[in-house]
Amino acid sequence: MSDPTYKLPLARPNVGSEEMAAVREVMESGTLAMGRWTDEFEERIATAAGRRHAIAVSSGTGGLHLAVRATGIRRGDEVITTPFSFVASANCVIYEGGVPRFVDIEEETLGIDPSLVEAAANDRTRGVLPVHVFGNPCRIEALDELARQHGWTLIEDSCEALGSTSHGRSLGSFGAASVFAFYPNKQITTGEGGIVLTDDDELAAEIRSMRNQGRDEDGTWLRHVRLGYNYRMDELSAAIGVIQMRRYPELRDGRARVAAMYEASLRPEPRVAVPQARAGADVDWFVYVLRLAPEVDRDRLIDQLGACGIPSRPYFTPLHLQPYYRSKFGYGPGDFPVTERVAASTLALPFFSTMSEEEVALVTGALVRSIDEQSHA
Ligand SMILES: *Cc1c(COP(=O)(O)O)cnc(C)c1O
Repeated sequence: MSDPTYKLPLARPNVGSEEMAAVREVMESGTLAMGRWTDEFEERIATAAGRRHAIAVSSGTGGLHLAVRATGIRRGDEVITTPFSFVASANCVIYEGGVPRFVDIEEETLGIDPSLVEAAANDRTRGVLPVHVFGNPCRIEALDELARQHGWTLIEDSCEALGSTSHGRSLGSFGAASVFAFYPNKQITTGEGGIVLTDDDELAAEIRSMRNQGRDEDGTWLRHVRLGYNYRMDELSAAIGVIQMRRYPELRDGRARVAAMYEASLRPEPRVAVPQARAGADVDWFVYVLRLAPEVDRDRLIDQLGACGIPSRPYFTPLHLQPYYRSKFGYGPGDFPVTERVAASTLALPFFSTMSEEEVALVTGALVRSIDEQSHA
């Protein structure tokens, strides 16, 4: 994330003296795992998302794995999901021997297009696993409705969507289970970390047990009632998370301020489209991703910005075109045209809550100059 050749990073966690004091308190307490900070972090996230249960884990990926396993996705089961995502949202199905069945996205939300779901389903379809891309809600209400009609399990990958809402309802509150992630570039961080949410008491107990080596509910040390894992979050991470949740309004305001500066500066530029929240949504952006007009050469633009000391990145590279997915499932170019078109035109700019006006101006100035250079070449 930090490269000495760049003038600023692509992302920077906002952690400081309060987080340090909390970590110090953990270290002085002698309880470095399975303690009160983890309990408090879980309570805070459950309350924020409006869910009955939250189970903190060591990563978002681990959380998705437990959600898939605990909801009973098994070998040969198919789960409808998106090719426009970070790889963990499809890998978690494969961990349990299931098959991710990709469905193309829609331009507006960059999430699964609900109108394509039924055509992709078959008698092995057991679940739907949508992703809220960059924090913007996918058509979660329509997907929830489809899942109910067909008896599919809905697992919500909300790993990029802490704090966003759709028609007033928190993302992370839909479906059988949902997951947030806390890697350092997410809305809040715990270092590495994630959390699984559910309203189902039995599912929560099962996920708690699986996280902790399959121990039974009272956590008897050497009694293992099911296959478990060590996906526990440690107390140092949980303490960082508690402070980050306390500071959440400040972190969110910082990102909103930066997004507004980008928007004001780039609105007049016809060759770039700034990110738009879905209608009815309130979005806390995870990353700031532009869509470039077709005449802009995205990869050349990344090089031009890099030469000005500014990091930028394509976001995402389609999952079905990843070498592993191509060789395992036989996918190739042309399979998901909207995903491929969108992926070829995205550009993530530096984005973090403490970004200054000067830093935003540095990025947008270089961006506009570089695009001008392309059209004059
Ligand atoms: C960040 C992220 C995850 C989980 O990431 P971890 O690094 O394992 O915490 C899962 N899905 C999506 C869409 C993500 O962006």
